[in-house]
Amino acid sequence: MAAIAAPGAGASDSGEPGIPPVRPDLAELVGYHSAQVEVDVRLNTNESPMPPPQGWLDDFRAGLADIDFNRYPDREAAALRSAVATSHGIDPGRVFCANGSNEVLQSLLLAYGGPARTVALFEPTYTLHRHIARTTGTRVAAGSRTDDFALDLDEVRRVVGAEDPVITFLCSPNNPTGRADSLKQIRSVLTMVPGLLVVDEAYGQFAPSSALDLVREAGHGSERVAVVRTFSKTWSMAGMRLGYLIAAPEVIRACELVALPYHLDAAKQLAGRLALDHVGEMEARVALINEERGRIEAALADLPVQTWPSDANFILFRPLSVPAGEVWAHLLDASVLVRDCSEWPGLAGCLRVTVGLPEENDRFLAGLDESLR
Ligand code: PMP
Repeated sequence: MAAIAAPGAGASDSGEPGIPPVRPDLAELVGYHSAQVEVDVRLNTNESPMPPPQGWLDDFRAGLADIDFNRYPDREAAALRSAVATSHGIDPGRVFCANGSNEVLQSLLLAYGGPARTVALFEPTYTLHRHIARTTGTRVAAGSRTDDFALDLDEVRRVVGAEDPVITFLCSPNNPTGRADSLKQIRSVLTMVPGLLVVDEAYGQFAPSSALDLVREAGHGSERVAVVRTFSKTWSMAGMRLGYLIAAPEVIRACELVALPYHLDAAKQLAGRLALDHVGEMEARVALINEERGRIEAALADLPVQTWPSDANFILFRPLSVPAGEVWAHLLDASVLVRDCSEWPGLAGCLRVTVGLPEENDRFLAGLDESLR
C-alpha cells in the first residue's frame, strides 16, 4: 500500500508559493492497492479468469463503428439503464450506472455522507467502504462480525442504535471472508437501521440469494434498500469499469445529482448493454466457478489450513503450519499470486485465493501443498 497523501507545506522556506497541504483528514490515508506483478496465475483480485464471450466482442466491435466519438455520450445512459432494468424485472428509474461499483459507492457517499454524517459497517469487510467514506469526509462507525465472520445481529443493533448512520453497509457475499448474508438476516438488519441499507453484491451472482428480492418487494422498508452490482466479476469486464445501483427512484436521483456530466462514456454504455445479451454464457461461467470453488474447498480440507465457507468466487484461508507471508511468497515463486490479507484487521494469518480456471486452481493447490510442507 502506498501513501496517497502526506501533509505538505503551503509555502516553501523561501516564502515562495508551494503546493498546499492535502485536507488534514486525508493525511493519514493510504491508497487501496493490490499487487500488479507479472505472474502465470493471477488469483488475487477476484476477476473472472475468462475473457468476455467472443459473441460479445464481435457485437461490441461492430457497435463501436456506429458511435459518434466527436459527440458527448447519452448523459442518461438510457439504453444501458433500460437493459439493466429489464434484466432485473424493474423500472429503469430504479437504476443508476457508474464507472465500476466503486464509483456507485462513491456516489452514494457523496450524496448521503459528508461532514457530520456517519455510516456503519461490520468488519472484516470490503475495505473500500471505509476508504471511500473517509475520502468523502464521512464518519465511519465500525462494528464487528462474529469470530467466524457471520453477521452478528446484536452487534448491528448496538452500532446502528448508538450511531444513527445515514447508510449501513453490508457486503454479501462478504469480501474477503466469502459468506453471503441470508435474506432473513438482511430483513432483520433493515428493521434496525434508520437510514439506507446498502448491500454490496459485487459477487451476488455466485450466491444462493440476493437482496434484489427485497428491493422488488413493496413496503416493509424496502425503499431503503439499495443493491450495488458490478460487471467486473461474472461479466468478465473488470477492464471496462462498469457497475450499477438498484434502488428507489429518489436514491437514483440523489446519485445523479453528484455524478459528473457524461461520466459514462459511449463505448462503456454499449459494452454493458451488449453484455446483457449473453446471460446464458455468464451463467455457465458462474456454474463452472462454483464447481471449481467446491473442488478447491475439498482439497483445502485435506491440508493444514483453516477455511471458511464461501458463496463467492474466492476463498479465505489461514495456513496453520507455516506463516501466511511465507506461503504467499512461496506461491509467488511458483508464479501464483494470491491476496495477502494477513495485515488486515481481524484477518491475522489469512490469505485469499480467487477461483480461477481448472488448470490455474491446480497450480495454486500444488504450490500451496508444497509451501505447507
Ligand atoms: N465491491 C466489492 C465487495 C468488491 O470486492 C469490489 C471489487 N474488488 C468492488 C465492489 C468494486 O468493483 P468494481 O469497481 O470493479 O465494480
